[in-house]
Amino acid sequence: MSYSDWFYEHGKKHKAIMDKLTHLSDQEVIAYFRFENMVEKEPDFCPLYKENKKCHDTEGLNCYLCGCPNFRFKDKGFHTREGKTLYSACSISSKEGGQFITEDAIHQDCSKCLVPHHESYIRTVFDRDWFEMMENVC
Ligand code: SF4
Repeated sequence: MSYSDWFYEHGKKHKAIMDKLTHLSDQEVIAYFRFENMVEKEPDFCPLYKENKKCHDTEGLNCYLCGCPNFRFKDKGFHTREGKTLYSACSISSKEGGQFITEDAIHQDCSKCLVPHHESYIRTVFDRDWFEMMENVC
């Protein structure tokens, strides 16, 4: 699956949930997206939910910002001077982020970064339209 495929599929799933939550306040919406509630109420939102597994092993994991507004991707990638293709990066160079580097490709590694999963951060970029929040991602 390409980055774009995931991006548009995930945005549609987010919208389908938001269409059901119009009666909730912004704070209630954010609370609804807490991992423990999502596993129970929205089992199809994330493939890990079926195993009751978190993408990050942390307390207070919130799934509203899966993915992250700071992520940048290009399906075709950019050619680097080192002869590799850069497919994705972090626009804020989060110190919790990293890179997957292979012989010919570089991908952003967000596996250790909790930035978009904190509710304090979600409140700063909150929009009910997921695609608006992600407008700079691609
Ligand atoms: S490293 Fe963190 S802040 Fe950067 S794109 Fe990944 S999740 Fe977002």
